[in-house]
Amino acid sequence: MQTEQLIKGKLVEGEGPATPVLDPTTGEQVASVREASPAQVQSAVDAATAAFDSFGRTTPADRAGMLLAVADAIEVHNDELAELESLDCGKPFAAARDDEMPLTIDTFRLIAGAARTQTGSVAGEYVEGHTSMIRKDPIGPVASIAPWNCPLMMASWKLAAPLAAGCPVVLKPSELTPLATLRKAEIMNKVLPAGVVNVIHSAGPGVGSALINNPGVEGISITGSPATGMAAMKAASEQIRHVHLELGGKAPVIVFDDADIDAVVETIRGGSFFNAGQDCAQPCRVMVQDGVFERVVAETAAAVSSIGLGTQHDPETEMGPLISAAQRDRVAGFVDRARAGADIACGGTVPEGKGFFFSPTVVANVDNDAEIACQEVFGPVVTISRFSDADEALGIANASRYGLASSVWTRDVGLAMRMAAQLRYGFTWVNTHGVGTAEMPWAAMKGSGTGCDMSVYALEAYTAVRHVMVAH
Ligand code: NAD
Repeated sequence: MQTEQLIKGKLVEGEGPATPVLDPTTGEQVASVREASPAQVQSAVDAATAAFDSFGRTTPADRAGMLLAVADAIEVHNDELAELESLDCGKPFAAARDDEMPLTIDTFRLIAGAARTQTGSVAGEYVEGHTSMIRKDPIGPVASIAPWNCPLMMASWKLAAPLAAGCPVVLKPSELTPLATLRKAEIMNKVLPAGVVNVIHSAGPGVGSALINNPGVEGISITGSPATGMAAMKAASEQIRHVHLELGGKAPVIVFDDADIDAVVETIRGGSFFNAGQDCAQPCRVMVQDGVFERVVAETAAAVSSIGLGTQHDPETEMGPLISAAQRDRVAGFVDRARAGADIACGGTVPEGKGFFFSPTVVANVDNDAEIACQEVFGPVVTISRFSDADEALGIANASRYGLASSVWTRDVGLAMRMAAQLRYGFTWVNTHGVGTAEMPWAAMKGSGTGCDMSVYALEAYTAVRHVMVAH
């Protein structure tokens, strides 16, 4: 198993303490990875800085070619990477192979094309005798930090856009899930110049903190929790850095009386419990209009109760465990604290046996301001609460500190358009939830972050607008 880091085009063992990597379905150790020493963090940043000199001056076509080569190389190792990902995260192998890998690869292909779409506005004489022109140039070396829920796909988001812009990267995957990313680094190293991508490992927040506070990085890009986003903003404020944050979510699912309830229930069963609910866009905060409330609760609980839990290769498995014992206990804590003020319509238990499983859970009759309705649980739990009209639903949803995903369910096109226009979320689905495509932005507002991943807009975080004026 590849457990070495990638620094300046070479695979090297970490010089820091070793951390165990566990299979979340059993809790047993499957690998051990040593973290980067402070000197190795510095070497990785130095390598990215040195690479910027030439990589930052490559043409968009050159970078697009490299990104397409990366996509092809990853594709050759598709099943091997999916296997590592499912082992490391405990997710069903089919989910890693059929859901995560296609977007992991397509992100590089989409961004390869996006690299060549960057064009400027007109050049002209805005001052007599002077010609002005606009440039969009790479900001410099980028520190990228990824979470554990979809490590390979998140690594693609954190790598592809800065590379397309001309920025070398030092990437740090989550300490809980380094395996597929370290193997991907080895694969990428065969098709990229040395130092353009560096991947280092951490045992805890220390290495990540050293990386984002390193004076050599010009941009900090984080996908993770709001706490880590705040650490990035703080680091950036101390050295004036560009910051791009994709943080937590608490997606409202606003169901009106005229909605297709079968479709709502099917989407919750599939989407809310996909990846054991560890998804920033998870349809988790179901808000239902009075007229269909009882029906949605009853049908959702019945559907969710039938979700099959199991290990990666069991064909009956629909949902795996949480990533760690700590995450399972955190989720159980939310549910336990909710019991006094709501109804556990199904689940709410830790199943017997090994691994970090938690049963698929529906908490009904939840107050709209209850902790479990407002805080990100990041587990296999949905809440169902009531509203009476569109204004009330908008008020409840927009009061949230989060602003990532949302969805509206109604057959009334005018109502759907009004809700979509007024919801303060980076993305709003109408009569669906969770359908992603690399062409469209994964965008954040409010406490969920700044800017977006995927789409041509992802390049914004890694480019600086510049003005060049020539006197003549
Ligand atoms: P986390 O914030 O605990 O960790 C994310 C990464 O940050 C890890 O690599 C971790 O080692 C690193 N880190 C932690 N503290 C740090 C510090 N002080 N300095 C630098 N790096 C530090 O998040 P997580 O638990 O791995 O992931 C779950 C979170 O990620 C959830 O909140 C989820 O919503 C969010 N997420 C958001 C998106 C999105 O696109 N918006 C996508 C996936 C996950």
